[in-house]
Amino acid sequence: MNDAAIHRRGLMLVLSSPSGAGKSTISKALLQAEPQLAMSVSATTRTPRPGEVDGKDYHFIALERMKGMIDQGEFLEHAKVFDNYYGTPRAPVEAALASGKDVLFDIDWQGTQQVAANARPDLVTVFVLPPSVEELERRLRGRAQDPEEVIQKRMSKAADEMSHWPEYDYVIVNRDLDVSIASVRSILHAERLKRVRQVGMADFVNKLRGA
Ligand code: 5GP
Repeated sequence: MNDAAIHRRGLMLVLSSPSGAGKSTISKALLQAEPQLAMSVSATTRTPRPGEVDGKDYHFIALERMKGMIDQGEFLEHAKVFDNYYGTPRAPVEAALASGKDVLFDIDWQGTQQVAANARPDLVTVFVLPPSVEELERRLRGRAQDPEEVIQKRMSKAADEMSHWPEYDYVIVNRDLDVSIASVRSILHAERLKRVRQVGMADFVNKLRGA
């Protein structure tokens, strides 16, 4: 007899932060390093930024279609952020979890609250903070793709967004990218070993004990 019957329940790893804290860079590195982790690609009504790929960074869809999908219950969660709608398509997440994969979500605090209300035992939430206001502003400007008024709006929204940090399981200050990536990987690895996620463990231990 061996441990072959023990399998793991997939978990849902949420990363939230104000825009510009470095969350997308952390997400990309995580996906490269963790083959068992799949990204949840959100749908949004906002226009693509240069370099963004439809179907990879987001599913870019029209407002009418978004509203229809909301009405049909096709999203696990959805929220209006700035002037646009964002939502997490339900089906791919369920398929990934069912096949034993973990799913990474880059969603805001509103979406996190909605997912938490429905799927708390499967959920692990991480909030990423910038190291300083100056650095946050520098990173928002560094993108140089959004008009000044959008940057100012994001700076003030960042303050609101950051007020939600106590709602998260883990908090990371992104001073050094490599350290932040290693920290999120440590969280993921530890959470995978949680007793409740190891399905079949009770039978395995009973057999070990000769019970
Ligand atoms: P951006 O437009 O800069 O890509 O994203 C703006 C904000 O929307 C970020 O805080 C991001 O986490 C959030 N966001 C992206 N996709 C989703 C989603 O599917 N649901 C929710 N609730 N927020 C999202």
